[in-house]
Amino acid sequence: MCNLYSVKDINLLLNKYNFCFSKGLGQNFISSPHLCPKIVSKSGITEKTGVIEIGPGIGVLTREIASRAKKVVSVEIDKRLLPILSDTVSFYDNVKIINNDILKVNINGLIQDEFRGFEDIKVCANLPYYITSAVIMKLLEEDSDITSMTLMVQREAADRICALPGSRECGALSLAIRYYADSEILFKVSRSCFIPSPKVDSSVIKITKNSKNSANIIDKNTFFRTVKSSFSQRRKTVVNSLSSEFALKKDSLNMILCDLNISLKSRPEQLSFVDFGRLSNSIYDRII
Ligand code: SAM
Repeated sequence: MCNLYSVKDINLLLNKYNFCFSKGLGQNFISSPHLCPKIVSKSGITEKTGVIEIGPGIGVLTREIASRAKKVVSVEIDKRLLPILSDTVSFYDNVKIINNDILKVNINGLIQDEFRGFEDIKVCANLPYYITSAVIMKLLEEDSDITSMTLMVQREAADRICALPGSRECGALSLAIRYYADSEILFKVSRSCFIPSPKVDSSVIKITKNSKNSANIIDKNTFFRTVKSSFSQRRKTVVNSLSSEFALKKDSLNMILCDLNISLKSRPEQLSFVDFGRLSNSIYDRII
């Protein structure tokens, strides 16, 4: 079997199939031998787990997942990688490769078709960075049976996703993800662990779905509008942003904030997740 941690072997393999990397598809393949075992160990995958992998590339992470999971379904957009993958992962009979754009895949349909009766379904991937937020939000919004996602993402994206309220990195994405899940940074990864080496470092994060609605949010749509409009102009006070978004008079919003014990001068990064939940509930009561 080809050693996918050896740069020499990887180059031989890529030359054999006349493959050149696509920057646009975020093709930076793992070449560090310790990384895949560490990612899969931290993901909590067991022999009972069904795993969805996004972007298998030449199959280095796929192999590690396949050796520990019940089944892996890997979604790869780049047709040129299919013959390479049939070469590198053919040894494993629990791997299925689907040639598609993950953003176009019906996740619940895939789970029905591939993981019926599975006790545990997880996502594990070294994500193509250009679709990080879109993929995460899609996987969360589709309300599937996925319990957790262990993802390698660009370091700055990891910091934003896992940011605590009140921190400089906290934004609409952090709070949107928080609506569905808890997230944590597991460990940092240097750019030197990939071939070709990207211009930025990475981090591996874990997003674990919540079953409870921790802030008792009444209306999801109003919550998301409240968060997005507040952060769309970070320098403005929340009152100013929300008054134009919901066509509410500033006096009405000031009263809502007073009732909630939130300062009228608050900027979005000063509010907690629970504050946003209470604020959106009060706005919802006012606008329906
Ligand atoms: N898993 C491999 C590894 O760790 O070495 C490759 C990871 S590489 C960062 C990202 C992979 O995602 C590439 O194989 C790329 O072709 C694929 N990809 C890019 N956009 C995609 C999309 N929209 N849907 C599915 N796969 C995609």
